[in-house]
Amino acid sequence: MKNHWKNFIAGSWSDSTSGDQIEIDDPATGLVFASCDAASSQDVDRAVAAARRCVSQRCLTGMAPAERGNLMRRIAQEIRAAKFEIAEYLCLETGKKLSECNGEVLGSASYFDYFAGLSDKLEGRYIPVGGGVIDYTMLVPYGVSAQIVPWNYPIGIACRSLAAAMVTGNASVVKSPELAPLALYLIAEAFERAGAPEGSLSVLCGEGAKTGAMLAQHLDIDHLVFTGSRVTGGKVLHALADRAVPAIMELGGKSPGIVLADADMDVVRKTLSTAPFKNSGQNCAAMTRLIVHRSRLEQVVDQVRDVLSNFKVGPGKDECDITPLISEQQRQRVAAYCEGAGKEGAKLIFGGRTDDQGGGYFFQPTAFYGVTSEMQINQEEVFGPVLALLSFDEPEEAVVIANGTEYGLAAGVFTKDFNMAHWMTDQLEAGAVFVNDWGIGGAGAPSGGMKRSGYGRERGQDAIMDYVQVKNIGMRINRSAS
Ligand code: NAD
Repeated sequence: MKNHWKNFIAGSWSDSTSGDQIEIDDPATGLVFASCDAASSQDVDRAVAAARRCVSQRCLTGMAPAERGNLMRRIAQEIRAAKFEIAEYLCLETGKKLSECNGEVLGSASYFDYFAGLSDKLEGRYIPVGGGVIDYTMLVPYGVSAQIVPWNYPIGIACRSLAAAMVTGNASVVKSPELAPLALYLIAEAFERAGAPEGSLSVLCGEGAKTGAMLAQHLDIDHLVFTGSRVTGGKVLHALADRAVPAIMELGGKSPGIVLADADMDVVRKTLSTAPFKNSGQNCAAMTRLIVHRSRLEQVVDQVRDVLSNFKVGPGKDECDITPLISEQQRQRVAAYCEGAGKEGAKLIFGGRTDDQGGGYFFQPTAFYGVTSEMQINQEEVFGPVLALLSFDEPEEAVVIANGTEYGLAAGVFTKDFNMAHWMTDQLEAGAVFVNDWGIGGAGAPSGGMKRSGYGRERGQDAIMDYVQVKNIGMRINRSAS
């Protein structure tokens, strides 16, 4: 395993001009195992300039669409060919379960396959304006697409943007997450091996407030995809506002599941054992709130206690259920939320404390009941293995509680009554709604938020329109009468 990485700029691996480095630790032990160069403003300039050359020389848009599709299929194949190595880096730097890392690698490849299939289907329209005129539209890439990526699913999130950007002919500059940048370098290697044009992808690492801010403020970017917290997203939008740079904002969530009185309780149990706790709750669309019909509350509290007390806390490489949080800072943040929940009157079912095994950033799986709408634990994104249980009497009340936060990323309903399921899916303010399950989807299913969870869509055909501009062409073809 390579222990030092440089930035990938204009098709080659470049030393940082600043000489600054970032150390990467293993969240399961707290020990540093690798480092990478931090990109300076000159490095950001070079990466953006390489992307600009790729755009102006039409390296992607000049290819026949099917050829671009074939390039993307080769990238998918190269990612799959390196899957064990990529998953190993991902597991070490994020602390996640190795099986989840394998899934993330294959999911990352699937974005290139999916969008490759759209390469020759990105059609404009003929518009009948009459009077001897041909009027038609073309889908035109923005040009240089800057992409800022979080640490929780670093390659999955980067690849869903990269694939949509490439099929539409944009050249990408990615700012990798400074806490988990390594697996993304192996995605750059897959681009190299597949023969992607120089400048179609650059990968820069660096702290958000430095390298991330430099990229967002760069005068020569045409488009930006930000995936991260709402607060950072706001800062990035301020940086883009003066130049009116369009953006996709994929922000946080506080996603509710509603358990109706007639719910299949085996399904509820199965879902609550995974949906809030996958990647130790460090998941934007985690089911962090369960809103339970009062007649089922006692049963759900018992299920939660039983599930959580059987979870094994430990390293991702050992396939433990609850793996470490990404950093000590994140662990302290989660601990503070749990302490606050107790002070506000929420009742602890299980957990609530750090777990100090092996020097890693472990936190016990945690759940509270007796949570009410206004409590911080119901309103704010904790980003840890923490579930809040609330209760309701009437379905309308459950919807009000579910919609009563600033977020709108995902939501779910558990019921056997499909009339009720249909009514609720219509009422819930979320970009994705699941019925009797959680997290259903794939490369073709659009993903994105409502309300303060952001705007724009990733994945699926809906994403295309967020990576292109529509150009209208009106062509007079009749000869003038005079
Ligand atoms: P974050 O907002 O702290 O950082 C995200 C990225 O922004 C990182 O690369 C960081 O370096 C960079 N950054 C930080 N400050 C910056 C600045 N001033 N200018 C430019 N870039 C800056 O988020 P995080 O802690 O890495 O990730 C967790 C958050 O991401 C959670 O809120 C989670 O819900 C959200 N998320 C959303 C989705 C989605 O699809 N909606 C997916 C994954 C994660």
